[in-house]
Amino acid sequence: MHATSTLTEADRLMTVCNSCRYCEGICAVFPAMEMRRAFSDGDLNYLANLCHSCGACYYDCQFSPPHEFNVNVPQVLAQVRCESYEAYAWPQFLSGAFQRNGLVISIVSALSVAIFIIGFVLSHDASVLLGDHTGPGAFYKLMPHNAMAVLFGGATLYALTATAMGVRNFWRDIGEPAGTLTEPASIWQAIKDASTLRYLDGGGVGCMNEDEKPTDHRRLYHHFAFYGFVLCFASTSVATVYHYLGREAPFPWYDLPVALGTLGGIGLIVGPIGLLRGKARRDPVLQDKTKYGMDVAFLAMLFLTSLTGMMLLGLRATPAMGLLLALHIGIVFALFITMPYGKFIHGFYRFVSLVRYAKERREAAEHA
Ligand code: SF4
Ligand code: SF4
Repeated sequence: MHATSTLTEADRLMTVCNSCRYCEGICAVFPAMEMRRAFSDGDLNYLANLCHSCGACYYDCQFSPPHEFNVNVPQVLAQVRCESYEAYAWPQFLSGAFQRNGLVISIVSALSVAIFIIGFVLSHDASVLLGDHTGPGAFYKLMPHNAMAVLFGGATLYALTATAMGVRNFWRDIGEPAGTLTEPASIWQAIKDASTLRYLDGGGVGCMNEDEKPTDHRRLYHHFAFYGFVLCFASTSVATVYHYLGREAPFPWYDLPVALGTLGGIGLIVGPIGLLRGKARRDPVLQDKTKYGMDVAFLAMLFLTSLTGMMLLGLRATPAMGLLLALHIGIVFALFITMPYGKFIHGFYRFVSLVRYAKERREAAEHA
């Protein structure tokens, strides 16, 4: 007996697949499935979070619709995955944010931008917003650096705590000991698998999106988005170090924080546009349509983070700087505080699932 009808359907599919095993070479899900004879809710949530939704096992399957077995692994695992985000969310009363997620994230973002605009005006006067602020320390004429550090430090701490608690709930539910997350060999293997998106390659031919013709587009755009985010994070980190060494933003275009931020910003524009385009064209049979808004909201937030950052870079010496700063840090603040309650969370559950899979695969090889 499973907790939801989606998990019951996933159990039925995994039982069919475990008898068939045709797809065992495509990705990590099928070998992990073969290590089990029965599937608990935790097992199914683990397999769902291992799935990268490459679509190959739908087009390769002789039992997919219109066959009466109605086997659609990518769609059902996508549904299980989305339900798992809600089930493991911390604190649990905020799990409702996964319902109508696009609307929730839009409201939080709009409020966040408005609060920064109002905050700038109230702490000075309305003219500060459209005033000319240039040279080192220009940003801090609108909001002191220490206030920014406390606000964003607090938001980051909250997001990381809520994410860690969600991952802890997941880890307990799948019955894995905490020690697995400290095994260097498993972590290193998971880093390699995640950083190359090894299981988004349809078993070597590419990901299937709009039809059964494989391409590497989704993997490529995912890389743009992921590494773009990493570079932007590195840019902010270097800028923080600079600040405490006595150098104040904004920095010249050739300086490290700007160079890293510009490269990252390009990735965060190209990646989300490519992924949004791919999503619009994706075969509906592969998707959990009820969570379309969540995926779009996440990609839109990454895109807007970059777009507002690039506009701020380009127009920082003009009177538009104040409004653009409010827009940019408002979007970034909303991105961070909604991180545990949106699509951002998929990266964390998928990574720890890869850690567990690396351990299981190593143990299976040792006992073979
Ligand atoms: S998805 Fe279809 S072909 Fe692949 S293992 Fe399952 S039943 Fe077999
Ligand atoms: S959709 Fe791709 S990653 Fe997911 S189970 Fe099927 S083959 Fe594996």
